[in-house]
Amino acid sequence: TKVLLTGGSGFIAAHILEQLLAKGHSVVTTVRSEEKASKIREAYPSQAASGELVVAIVPDIAQPDAFDEVVKTPGLEVVLHTASPFHFKFTDPKELIDPAVIGTTGILRALARSAPTVRRVVVTSSFAAIIDEAHQTDPSTTFTEASWNPVTLDDVHRSPSTAYRASKTLAERAAWAFVKDGEKDGGVGFDLVTVNPPMVFGPVVHYLESLDAVNTSNERLVDCLRGKWREGGVPSGGPVAIWVDVRDVAEAHVKAGLEIPEVEGKRLFATAGLFSNAEMARVVRKHFPEDAERLPTEETKGGELAPEGQRFKFDNSETNKLLGIKWRSLEESVVDTVRSLKKVGA
Ligand code: NDP
Repeated sequence: TKVLLTGGSGFIAAHILEQLLAKGHSVVTTVRSEEKASKIREAYPSQAASGELVVAIVPDIAQPDAFDEVVKTPGLEVVLHTASPFHFKFTDPKELIDPAVIGTTGILRALARSAPTVRRVVVTSSFAAIIDEAHQTDPSTTFTEASWNPVTLDDVHRSPSTAYRASKTLAERAAWAFVKDGEKDGGVGFDLVTVNPPMVFGPVVHYLESLDAVNTSNERLVDCLRGKWREGGVPSGGPVAIWVDVRDVAEAHVKAGLEIPEVEGKRLFATAGLFSNAEMARVVRKHFPEDAERLPTEETKGGELAPEGQRFKFDNSETNKLLGIKWRSLEESVVDTVRSLKKVGA
């Protein structure tokens, strides 16, 4: 199957790319620069030489016409749209909102116009589009595949994480609206699925310049390994105390895009369950005794899960039934993440 994967340089997309190529699919992936493109080609020399892997440059997905050319690649059947900013290094929330929303509507419009062979589009959304900040500490709230973050553009200045959540929510809403509007005019030729993971941990297989370039969700493990948690105490994991391993998120995309037709029109809430920073620190301490001097000790306070009466509940049983993925354990994920970070110099 011929697949278009956007944002191939990303943490999650690198695992999707690896799984797609291992299964013999042919992939066109987009990145922002030639430098990133050549690193990906170097990682898969034989597929790059045979044309099974093509890396295309799409410099800025906030431009509405960014994807107009690449979608014309003949024979595309499936699109996995992962590219979207996930960081808090912005001064204006527009820096997140525009690439998220315009990137999503731009690619859908380009596909509807110029890619008649595409049958399914998977958009990487997020638990950010499910959670409702007003209820995150409310034990009577259960978030499911049907829950929607009520955030609007008026809320984006509340906090950097609200701005990120708004970018994901507005992008996902725009994607569903696009497909629904298309139905009125006789359909758009493809169906839509979203994958909505919470905090994603797992090994880095993408091509980091340095540890400082680590993706946002793995930053906490870098901090832990660098001794920050020992000095300052284990930080609170924040209200989003649920997680999933990156390899499982990648598998969810591959299954949703290529292997399970029945997920048409579904939001897939891909999560392994609860985590806490304190639990992650315990796993690192157990498996990497050579780092004991830099790690928090058993006495270091902080980072425990909020008590059951002070946090939301979740239910992703519909997703579990549809995907049938056995989610990796936190212990396996953390150990593999730390090993991969050590290769980059942690
Ligand atoms: P990364 O930062 O590693 O990946 C983000 C990708 O988007 C990169 O390829 C990046 O390119 C690309 N990108 C960002 N902004 C632009 C832009 N303006 N123009 C073109 N490309 C852009 O993070 P993740 O792999 O974690 O994120 C991938 C997706 O998963 C995102 O949609 C994110 O919202 C979602 N997600 C992530 C979670 C997590 O915990 N990691 C949780 C839930 C959802 P470049 O490499 O050049 O910066």
